[in-house]
Amino acid sequence: MQKREKIYEGKAKIVYATDKPGLIIQYFKDDATAFNALKRGTIVGKGVVNNRMSGVLFTLLGKKRVPTHFLETLSDREMLCRRLDIIKIETIARNVVAGSLAKRTGLEEGTPIREPVLELYYKSDALGDPMINDEHVRMLKLATPEELRWIRRMALRINGVLRPYFRRKGLLLVDFKLEFGRHAGRLWLGDEISPDTCRLWDVKTGERLDKDRFRRDLGGVEEAYQEVFRRVVGRAGAEGEASGSGKRASVSEPGRAGAEGEASGSGKRASVSEPGRAGAEGEASGSGRRDLTP
Ligand code: C5P
Repeated sequence: MQKREKIYEGKAKIVYATDKPGLIIQYFKDDATAFNALKRGTIVGKGVVNNRMSGVLFTLLGKKRVPTHFLETLSDREMLCRRLDIIKIETIARNVVAGSLAKRTGLEEGTPIREPVLELYYKSDALGDPMINDEHVRMLKLATPEELRWIRRMALRINGVLRPYFRRKGLLLVDFKLEFGRHAGRLWLGDEISPDTCRLWDVKTGERLDKDRFRRDLGGVEEAYQEVFRRVVGRAGAEGEASGSGKRASVSEPGRAGAEGEASGSGKRASVSEPGRAGAEGEASGSGRRDLTP
């Protein structure tokens, strides 16, 4: 398998073709943007964290009946993936009120949500990724009703897997973004799952260990990414990264001094209790929906 020409360069990743038409390589950069690229910066080591963490999480999800584009971690910053025709919908799942949901509803950040909330956004830089509903998806022909039902079901299933997984790592999965795409006549989970796309709070201290540290100038950005890396990838052997992917965890641990004892007021929050876990996957039992997966 050979790396070929650059197909696309985004804010955080570069996509390369390979000598196999159905396969691409995702290269993870350290570049960070926020607020529709109005804020730009670099988070040293972020690409390695996001690449290796995504590899661990895609592998975990693959074992839990979530088809993902991930095939193999190739290096610190590269993963081999199925080439997807990305659906222009960003699906967000939320377990705790934060970010734009706090702004939209007036609820305080940290308010637990009893049943996970799913939101859809139109993936359009020109429009600033506006929120849309199922009717808009139909009107814009972004996905068929059947595809959208599948996306919603998968998003809840993914939440049902990731939330307890992160919990075991001492991390509260507040919310996260997913992207799906088409390949070989079916849908797959694509993109990445990382501190760029998830809000992760330390269960005990409420400390934010995700991109909000960059967005909100909280400081300790690199340290937060490395802490998540340590908790998730550092234990990859135990939870199982793709066999054959070989390399793992070659990121040197930066000094941990300060990470635990960061200045108070730097974004620490009161600990948030997990709301009821009943029906964590949220799948309507006996819904009889047709699965798009073979
Ligand atoms: O900003 P908002 O509260 O809507 O973000 C919800 C979740 O989706 C956060 O975890 C954020 O990191 C993620 N997100 C993302 N890419 C976007 C918008 C949000 O990964 N374009």
